[in-house]
Amino acid sequence: MTPALPPFFHVHALETVGSTNAEALRLAAAGAPAGTLVWAREQSGGRGRRGRIWESPPGNLYCSVLLRPSPARADWGQVSFVAAVALAEAVARTAPGIAAQLKWPNDVLVAGRKLAGILLEADGDALVAGIGVNVASHPDGATSLAREGAAVAVPSLLTGIATAFQGWLERWEVAGFTPVRAAWLHRAVGLGGAVQVRLADQTLSGTFTALDEGGALVLDGGRRILAGDVTLAPGA
Ligand code: ATP
Repeated sequence: MTPALPPFFHVHALETVGSTNAEALRLAAAGAPAGTLVWAREQSGGRGRRGRIWESPPGNLYCSVLLRPSPARADWGQVSFVAAVALAEAVARTAPGIAAQLKWPNDVLVAGRKLAGILLEADGDALVAGIGVNVASHPDGATSLAREGAAVAVPSLLTGIATAFQGWLERWEVAGFTPVRAAWLHRAVGLGGAVQVRLADQTLSGTFTALDEGGALVLDGGRRILAGDVTLAPGA
């Protein structure tokens, strides 16, 4: 079934692909327009941040959207928050009763377990936002909409995500990060609590006091973290 998407999107629906992000980047290099959306039923080499693996069996949602954003490249990382907010909104609409929470910088959780992941990759003037949502199944320790009790069809979820994503992207391009930040904070987990942040060369501990105006995590009211792995203290 082909999902009904807003006219901005041009869907490339595939049975299987190595990585939807890699395919979208390939299309970008060949001149594909913004709004190109690669959707696959499964990925044989789904990827996460820093070469990590995104488990991608059939039954879940895997898509990547090609963007050529107008805001400065330095702000493109904010699209990970745009996508997270859109994902949470789409989940709330498609699976009422399931409250998605957002964990800095790019995770979507339900009751502390990972439901979805977001991976941004850029090349030249192209930015690809990859989204994976566990609909039917999930790896150990993670969760899925099915596990949370929601029977959701992947095409309807894709419609919901694409619609919400386009709306939030427009808001971001017009009004900047402020409205995105507010919506993200509304669903944030860990804010005000103890966190550990693993950086490339060290691990910092402190209180997650704020999300700054650009999307950085503020530790103990001072140090700004732009990229890292966050572990929340138990009960946060
Ligand atoms: P973390 O969530 O551990 O902080 P991360 O945000 O860097 O990691 P991503 O790069 O978004 O994570 O995703 C890769 C990681 O997510 C993997 O290392 C694995 O731990 C986990 N993972 C892999 N596949 C799935 C999946 N289908 N659902 C939930 N989690 C997954």
